[in-house]
Amino acid sequence: MITSFHPPVRTLMGPGPSDVNPRILEALSRPTIGHLDPAFIEMMDQVKELLQYAFQTKNELTLPVSAPGSAGMETVFANLLEPGDIAVVCQNGVFGGRMKENVERCGAKAVMVEDEWGTAIDLNKVEDALKANPDAKLLAFVHAETSTGVRSDAKALCELARKYDCLSLVDAVTSLAGIEVDVDGWGIDAIYSGTQKCLSCVPGLAPVSFSERAAEVIRGRETTVQSWFLDLNLVMGYWGSNTKRAYHHTAPVNSLYALHESLVILQEEGLEACWARHARNHAALVAGIEALGLSFVVDIEHRLPQLNLVRFPESIDDATVRNALLNSYDLEIGSGLGALAGKVWRIGLMGFASSEKNVFLCLSALGNVLRAHGLDADPAAAVIAAQATLR
Ligand SMILES: *Cc1c(COP(=O)(O)O)cnc(C)c1O
Repeated sequence: MITSFHPPVRTLMGPGPSDVNPRILEALSRPTIGHLDPAFIEMMDQVKELLQYAFQTKNELTLPVSAPGSAGMETVFANLLEPGDIAVVCQNGVFGGRMKENVERCGAKAVMVEDEWGTAIDLNKVEDALKANPDAKLLAFVHAETSTGVRSDAKALCELARKYDCLSLVDAVTSLAGIEVDVDGWGIDAIYSGTQKCLSCVPGLAPVSFSERAAEVIRGRETTVQSWFLDLNLVMGYWGSNTKRAYHHTAPVNSLYALHESLVILQEEGLEACWARHARNHAALVAGIEALGLSFVVDIEHRLPQLNLVRFPESIDDATVRNALLNSYDLEIGSGLGALAGKVWRIGLMGFASSEKNVFLCLSALGNVLRAHGLDADPAAAVIAAQATLR
């Protein structure tokens, strides 16, 4: 007979999901109530308000889509694009490629601006593409590329979009709550995120937000959105304010308790303090990793504090080391993707997982495993180097 499933307790330092704060797991286990219960609806309004805080926006059209980050991506493209539209899409890693697929599945044309994996989006190339495509409707890019650990200049990219009369569409799945994201300040028109990265919530929800300009584009569509589930005109019958909330789909009630709790935690800490914590723990990890004799792929200016791309020597076998970390230390780190597979690890310090405790665990565990595999690495020196940055 199959019995209950009890997962091992891990420390999650990969590209997501990240460690979930116990307060959030406790919120998840509170009693399920109806998705039209007045008490639940009151909580939904608070979730919207808290998301506006996290995104730094007054956008009315701000809500969590009832599905993972990928559905947030699909929501923004499906609602903003119509067949025959042109979208300029930046690609410097895995997720820009997925944007291209979304654009094409909407029957629109994707004009690609490609940069090498591990580098930031080149503003000059983007400007050339916008100049060459005056009919483009939107500019889409990934703020924090989780596949490469690169931060691109979202503010400057949004300025370019505005200059060429395009909507700006931003993937903030990994950036939100880990580094600054300023929706109103940067003039972002459409943005989506996920709950399992720097919000440290359970996976499965995608916060989105649209500017008034973007909302107008959605209202003025000539064709209906091809996805029934993601059509915001319908979703707003449930999530919109000033409406009598009507059934669209059964909201993931308990997951929304969890998101509410994670956003309350973010508000308690404060956005700036949260970004500062990510930066501080990143600096400690960098010092320790370099003391182990390993190096960083991304240049300092474009490194993400929440996702660290670490290069290891050819003599080291990727899977062997990651398995040893998992089996001996219950520690998960991520592997490289694409051309970087087998050459790098992706070490996440996201949300609740961005802690001094995790930095020290990772450095000592990784140092021990590397030494066992013949590398001249000194875990004690790594911990001391990390500690020195935290004084
Ligand atoms: C994780 C991630 C996604 C996809 O989110 P899922 O919740 O896995 O669907 C999209 N974009 C970026 C940059 C991500 O890191």
